[in-house]
Amino acid sequence: MKRLRFGRWGSVLADHRHGDEITRRKTESLPPLASFPPNVIALMSGKGLLVFDNEFNFVPMIREYLAQIQAKYCCGKCITGIKGSKIVSVILDKMMQGGSAESDLDVLSRMADILNDAAKCSVCQSAGELLKDGLTFFRDDFLDAVRNGISENSVRYIGNISAPCMNTCPCHINIPGYVEMLQELRYEEALQIIREEMPLPGITGRICPAPCEKACSVANMGDVAIPIKTLKRVAADYEMLHAIEPPFQRVELNGKPIAIVGAGPAGLAAAYYLNRFGHPVTVFEALPIPGGMVGVGIPPYRQPRDVLQKEIVQIQRLGVEFRFKARLGKDFTIQDLFDQGFKSVFLGVGAHKSSALALKEEKQRIKGVFSGGIDFLRDLNLGKKIQVGENAIIAGGGNTAIDCARTCLRMGASQVTVVYRRTEREMPADLEEVEDSREEGIKFLFLTQPVAVLSENGRMTGLRCIRMELGEPDRSGRRRPVPVEGTEFDLAGDTLIPAIGQIADLEWLSGDDNIQFSRKGAIKVDPVTMMTSRPGVFAAGDAVSGPLTVVHGLAGGKRAAHMIHQYVTTGSCKATEQQWMDDLIANIEKDYGVLVTARSPLREGGKVVRNKLDVHDRIGHFLEVDSGFTQKGSFIEASRCLRCFHLILAAVK
Ligand code: SF4
Ligand code: SF4
Repeated sequence: MKRLRFGRWGSVLADHRHGDEITRRKTESLPPLASFPPNVIALMSGKGLLVFDNEFNFVPMIREYLAQIQAKYCCGKCITGIKGSKIVSVILDKMMQGGSAESDLDVLSRMADILNDAAKCSVCQSAGELLKDGLTFFRDDFLDAVRNGISENSVRYIGNISAPCMNTCPCHINIPGYVEMLQELRYEEALQIIREEMPLPGITGRICPAPCEKACSVANMGDVAIPIKTLKRVAADYEMLHAIEPPFQRVELNGKPIAIVGAGPAGLAAAYYLNRFGHPVTVFEALPIPGGMVGVGIPPYRQPRDVLQKEIVQIQRLGVEFRFKARLGKDFTIQDLFDQGFKSVFLGVGAHKSSALALKEEKQRIKGVFSGGIDFLRDLNLGKKIQVGENAIIAGGGNTAIDCARTCLRMGASQVTVVYRRTEREMPADLEEVEDSREEGIKFLFLTQPVAVLSENGRMTGLRCIRMELGEPDRSGRRRPVPVEGTEFDLAGDTLIPAIGQIADLEWLSGDDNIQFSRKGAIKVDPVTMMTSRPGVFAAGDAVSGPLTVVHGLAGGKRAAHMIHQYVTTGSCKATEQQWMDDLIANIEKDYGVLVTARSPLREGGKVVRNKLDVHDRIGHFLEVDSGFTQKGSFIEASRCLRCFHLILAAVK
């Protein structure tokens, strides 16, 4: 069983090496040991050091820490950081080879103080603090190295740059890196950084729910989070407005042919990265347009079609082929794709089937009752003629419900009410979407559940509802809504759109496809390799995870692309060191919370309000509501970023 030998983590100190435990200032906790795989013998980060193995030696690990920050992460902007870390590295190199003197420990001690106190950002500051830890608690390792040097052993080091925001972004975009570029008005370089991890900056810069902002150190220190999402969009809009061609290199496509099923976020990311690896990629899409849920499930006032179009065309120009109106199960099978010569198949088919409210009237074809929010938005976005009444009711509490409500308003409804069975606090919709819809005049009825559709002569006239109260938490951790007996009431309305969720429509997969499903009806994959039960067939996105966000789909597609590349070139696949480290950090953060925090104080600077269409100018059309920041606004906002990069280094045996 894993045991902690030594831990200094923030203000916690726990030293078990000599049998007696010294624990001080226990205001924080240590990450749970269960989060660490058996082969990790130590973890070093800006938060501290955890040691699990008696064979651990501090000197080579801090040497590696310094080497990695110098090679990859030092911003090079403060002389203390550049020179200080260099001096320490030179001494440690000498020490490793047995060529140093005991007096060098005094120099190291002074350098540790200087780095810790005077370096500009957390990367080099953390090296100073860790070095101080080492000189205090692992002095014997230093003395031994001075006398004998350090001999080679089997310990390897895997490092990952990290920041609270980066860890929380499912695509692990180098956020402090691109925010810094925006601070310097270097939009094209900002986009280059973003595109290393994710190919759709204009789209995610508008509709990502931005989990990164919730983890932002600035927010956790009591200020308004850095607007990471909108800053991304500023860079993408700059490129679009100035008609700048992104500096994509066309690579020679001499790899193995890969079939992607589904042109949603997961499929597009998989196609993009597989193309970058040099594989000829063909995307098969059931709908007549690309984008999946982004193309047909999000209204243009939030996600303008020209932005989507531009980002898809960029992928097309790289040599990715798209075939539309090609539905798996109807027009072709998985086996057909292999028979046509594709060496691997990626399933990114999304979750496009609306969940029903389970009211018996839903099946009675009552005029005004729609089958589901996703169906409603898809039909509208595909150009079908749809009419809504004067008084629309939307059932649900997610972004799709809000999208339907705001769409009804733009289509001419004079009154729109959202009914949701829990309270506002449990609503999964983005807070800003709810606020915007309120501003536009949409009403909300919380703790309310539809029980029957009222109709006359085949037309909807209202909705019978019942009041709910919150009971015990369910499996999702949210308190379960329970009907309050005798509280039924009728709500007048001529349109009902149930938008309570969506599921993957996997009926097209037959037993012959050999794809297994989870108990929840999603495609089952190996969580590390993303391979399904059928060798060579991979899957990611909503069809695997259930409905999540665009950025989760993109992250899944990217990971699957790396796995497919390994599979078609070597015959097998496993997590790369980078992915292993990403998974390790995600695992620790799931159990523990944010691993690293900012060390710099908050920076002065104004908060800029985004430009939005006046609420009276939003109705009757689908023009984009939010136009983001001006360049000046983005400069002001980007300047507040604390650049809280940290290196997380694992010693692995
Ligand atoms: S301050 Fe900057 S680097 Fe730090 S968490 Fe926020 S966005 Fe990321
Ligand atoms: S994609 Fe989303 S989570 Fe990632 S950095 Fe952008 S806004 Fe944040």
